[in-house]
Amino acid sequence: MNARGFPAFKLFTGMDGRKKTGRLLLSLLLVFLLLLSLAGCAQPSGSGPSQSGNPAAGTRQPVSAGAAGSGLQSLASGEMRVSVIDVGQGDSILVQLPDGKTMLVDGGPTVAGPNVAAYLRRRGVKRIDYLVATHPHEDHIGGLPGVLPQFPIGQIFMTRGTTNTATFEHLLQGIKNKGLSVTTARAGVVLFQQGTLQAVFLAPSSSGYKDLNNWSAVIRLQYGNAAFLLTGDAQAQSEQEMLASGANLRADVLKVGHHGSATSTGPAFLRAVAPRFAVISVGAGNDYGHPHQVTLNKLQQAGVQVYRTDQDGTVVFTTDGKQIRVDCLPRQAVPGGIRGFVEWLRMRLFGN
Ligand SMILES: [Zn+2]
Repeated sequence: MNARGFPAFKLFTGMDGRKKTGRLLLSLLLVFLLLLSLAGCAQPSGSGPSQSGNPAAGTRQPVSAGAAGSGLQSLASGEMRVSVIDVGQGDSILVQLPDGKTMLVDGGPTVAGPNVAAYLRRRGVKRIDYLVATHPHEDHIGGLPGVLPQFPIGQIFMTRGTTNTATFEHLLQGIKNKGLSVTTARAGVVLFQQGTLQAVFLAPSSSGYKDLNNWSAVIRLQYGNAAFLLTGDAQAQSEQEMLASGANLRADVLKVGHHGSATSTGPAFLRAVAPRFAVISVGAGNDYGHPHQVTLNKLQQAGVQVYRTDQDGTVVFTTDGKQIRVDCLPRQAVPGGIRGFVEWLRMRLFGN
């Protein structure tokens, strides 16, 4: 064009370096936004009214957004609480036992580590008495190295399922740094037993599995008449082994295996567990198609009330051993599109 156009063109072509810098800054900004959004699980403390005051047992009782710190009733004496923490795509479950002890089952993906630690502090946790890493996939153990240094740890349980990823090495280093030794988790091992309170591993029972998911430690937790089955990512093979073992699988609450994938929650297994409630720990917009519609249909047909961390946020079950109350602690509202994008970006960056 003319003299006006030329500098403009030159300016444009001269932007190459600046464009790269711009892209880098944009990437950093996206990562920052990502971390910010993931820090939004069940926080901050707010003054929203709790609707969990006096619910009929088993009804969905959402606590108003942002009220996680204050909306949930404090744990009464003789109550047990199981929080399926919203960690995006992954698993992390906090169990607060009636005797004041605590168990943490998985720590979510790496990026969720700080959230998990923060959630534990909000629940008043000072010490993790029993730490279980169900199997060495990043979406289950990635967050644990971020949690380990922040709390005194009692016992650590892991299965013999190992891998050679940096994430797994990082966890082993974290355990070593704490001077802890690992207790092997396998079917039949009792975590604790005291009166009507008991936790026992139902899987794994084989000496080898092709799929790392089937190495998942599966825990049946019982308090009085209330039972929970925490299945990690156990799939059909492990489910069949549990059925064949003749172990008591019945549970009021099923933490659905492998984020609701079609390879878990087989019909016979679901019949044996016969849960009233199911909770699926899953990230919005994940690349795996979790939860699978087939699994959702099976649960619906069985008349199970289903909670999902991608829709309900952190799902909290509180029981006195007779009744179970359910509270949902939704994330701070994030527009679906952005949240979906952030989950997508997280998966791209950190994988499963
Ligand atoms: Zn998983």
